[in-house]
Formats: sequence, C-alpha cells, structure tokens
Amino acid sequence: MEYEKIMDMAKRRGIFWQSAGIYKPVAGFYDYGHIGTLIKRRWENLWREFFLGLGDNYYEIQASVIMPEDVFRASGHLESFLDPVAKCGKCGNVERADHILEDLLKESFEGMAKAELTALIRKHNIKCEKCKGSLGDVEDRNLMFPVSIGTGKDKKSAYLTGETAQGAYVNFKLMFDVLRRRLPMGLAIVGKAFRHEISPRQALIRMREFTQAELQIFFDSDAINKHPRFDEVGSYKLRLHTTKNKSAGVEEMSCHDAVKGLHLPEFYVYHLARVQQFYLDVLAVPEKAFRLRELSAEEKAFYNKYHWDIQLNMESVGGWKEVGGVHYRADHDLKGHGEASGTAMAVNIEGKSVLPHVIEISMGVDRNVYALVELSYREEKERDVLAFPRKVAPFDAGIFPLVNKDGLEEKAREIYEFLRGEGFQVFFDSSGSIGRRYRRIDEVGVPAGITIDYDTLKDNDVTLRDRDSMKQVRVKIKDMPAVLRRFLGGESVSAFGEFIN
Ligand SMILES: [Zn+2]
Repeated sequence: MEYEKIMDMAKRRGIFWQSAGIYKPVAGFYDYGHIGTLIKRRWENLWREFFLGLGDNYYEIQASVIMPEDVFRASGHLESFLDPVAKCGKCGNVERADHILEDLLKESFEGMAKAELTALIRKHNIKCEKCKGSLGDVEDRNLMFPVSIGTGKDKKSAYLTGETAQGAYVNFKLMFDVLRRRLPMGLAIVGKAFRHEISPRQALIRMREFTQAELQIFFDSDAINKHPRFDEVGSYKLRLHTTKNKSAGVEEMSCHDAVKGLHLPEFYVYHLARVQQFYLDVLAVPEKAFRLRELSAEEKAFYNKYHWDIQLNMESVGGWKEVGGVHYRADHDLKGHGEASGTAMAVNIEGKSVLPHVIEISMGVDRNVYALVELSYREEKERDVLAFPRKVAPFDAGIFPLVNKDGLEEKAREIYEFLRGEGFQVFFDSSGSIGRRYRRIDEVGVPAGITIDYDTLKDNDVTLRDRDSMKQVRVKIKDMPAVLRRFLGGESVSAFGEFIN
C-alpha cells in the first residue's frame, strides 16, 4: 500500500495527522484523532495484559520525562546517543548520512563509522538534496532534547528522556525494596520519549516525540541459562533473520535450536518467543509480515550483548521496519547509575550480592499503530475495510436503528445504553442509509454492527453483522452481552445462529 494513501486515509478517518496543522507543521510530531487514540489505548492495554503477565513480580510504574543531566551522563546518552550527519557546505542543510546512503543503495548503514560513511558519500558523489551543493565530512549530532529548569543562578540543565527505560533504572532500588526483594523483577513503563531526529520521516515510524512501551526485566545473571517456563516454548518455531544467513529472509527455528545453534541463553530466547506470540496470537499480525532480526556487532549499542529487532514488513515504508527490540543490556545501566549517584545497586539475594542484569523488551507504540493500519487495510470491490483484530478495533460495535421513526431510535438507544453498561465500547449512528453506516464502521475497522428494525419491536431480536464476512445473524437482546463477548474473543458469527439475508 502506498504511503500517501495511508496518510490521507489516516487523516480522513480520525486516526492520526501532523501536529499543529493549522500552522506550518514541524516534521516529526503527530497528533491522534479519536479513532487513533482508541486504537492506541487498546494496543497499550493488550501490551500491559500480555507482558505484565509474564511474571508475578512484574509491574508498571510512571516516571518523569524530564530528568537532570546527571542521569543521562551516567546512562551514556550525552556521550554516545548520536546520529551521523552530513552538512551541505553551500546551503547549510543537514541530513542523516546513513539515511541518504540507504535511500540510494537500498541497504542499511546503521552503526557504520563516520569515516566510512564519508568515504561512501564521496565514492557515490552524493550531493545536497536541496541545492546540489557539496556535503561536508560526516559528523556526530546528539539526539537528546535539552530543557532548562528554573531561572537565574538556580537554573539547571536537564533533558527530555530519550527512552522510558531510564525511569525504570533510576527507580530500581526503591522498587526492589517495595516489592520485597525478589528477582526477577519487571518494571514496565508506557510513556513518552523524545529524540532530536535530524530528518524525521515516514510519519509515525521516525518521530521526535513518541510513545514507548518498555519492560525492563531485572534478574540474576547466574540464572541466564535457565528459564522455569522454557518448556512451554521449547519446540515453538521462531521466525528469525540472522546475521549469518542474511540472504534468507526468514528462517524458522525452534527455541531449543536457537539456544543450541545460535548460542543464545534460555532466558533470552524465552522472551523472544513471547514477543513473537504477542504479535502473531494477540495482535493477529500475518506470520509472513513478522520476523526477529539479529543485529550485527556494528549495529548494536556497545552495551547490548544480545540485540534482536522486532520487524514488520510494511510496503508503504519500504519493507521490513523495526517496531521494537529485545535487548540484553547486561549490568550496563545499573552499574552506571550506581557509580554516578553513589547509590549501591547490588542487592542481596539469599546471602549473595547480585548486581542484576537487564533484558529489555522495547516497543515503539506509534510505529506499531502505523503497522496495524497498513497491515489491516483491505480494498474490496464495494468497500475499503480496516480489518483490525477484534481486540484492537476502536469500538466493539456500532448500534444502528434501521430508520429514525416509529420508536426504532429509542429502542436502539436503549440497547446502546445496555451494552455500554455491560462494559462494551459501542457507538450510536442513525444518519444515512444503513448501507452507508455499515461502510463507515468498516472504514475504521469496527468488527460488529448491530441493527434494530421493526421486528425488534415485536420479538426483541437484533441483527448482528460481522465486518469481515458481512454475514448476519439474529440475536436476542438479552443474549447480546454474552454473544458479543464470545465474538470479540474470536468466535465466528455462525456460532450464534443461521445466516440471514
Ligand atoms: Zn545544500
């Protein structure tokens, strides 16, 4: 699907668009409309339900997005959170050096050294996009957003956080004590992060302000070769793209084989499997659009011992794109914050002093929302459908009186209130023909349509329509909550009665 088409559709249907559009918008900032907000919230809630469910000592916390400079000095962000840029000597335009090369040569140059990038720019004689002037040598640009706190002599420098993760690390010791000193301990944060991208692009894929959902799992590194629930995933087939076998788009490999063949620890592989299950089983992403990609030594951050990206295949943005990652950060973060803050981060576990290691499961929520929109889009003969998985759809059902007279609207309102009271996210629409109203819910991916007609007044039955098959059945009003719950849980509409025309 084309990028322009997605952007246009997202705007018309209330999903997302460039921020501050009534002025001259600034690249890298996006707002969500009502439909986008509902989808994003559901995605986040599914994420919480799934990942906090991985351990009985896993919890969500909220941390400040502005933190003092010391935090980011200790984390290494001020020194090494850098992008390579090339500046035009004529007009001053600055571009991401690896991106201009990627656009031209259609491969990834992430993590390549500055000198090599400069050499490639010279070799291919790449000029400024804007004025065709010559580009200077590749330099580093820091991605952190500085802010200042206070005024006068009390003025302090601080930064907007570049990743939610730091909020979990600075709270580690406190939470460890509060949670009664057990490992593994998981701290999740769903929140904003900020990166001063040089050339934000591809809408929700590369933004300057974005939402992350991250889980930091703190554990004893002596236990890394075992996971108590590994047997549950042992024969589960991972979809992998390894650095050894780059020409194969995806290799299928069981978790057992990944541990043996790729020399990855069980504790890490277990989480790769759970991440894949979240995508395939919970979000219903088509298998062929999902893979876990191993990063080469040059690409991964120096402190990550193991680093696999979560990638989804999206035609509109040029194929496989990173939407998250599983990072084994070892003791890098706790060690850094321990030394810089003077707070001892080692903890006592049954008489043994342990500086916990961290596996981080990190996802970009906005990128995932964009991917859902692209991967759910279907163009059919008479309609466009956003076939969102039922659990991620913005609403559970639309409620429609067939006509606005003879008491049908009142009856439909009653059912609307009844289903809302039962905890469903429903909306009411009485304008236009019933066919038009069905098209409108199809376009924003609402899985069920419930129509109230003249027969409803007599027999208290309503018509339940399935978005995907467009099949309809009659259901008793009093049975609707149970039926809708089963339908949203994945049952076919045929389970609830004979199809009607
Ligand atoms: Zn220029």
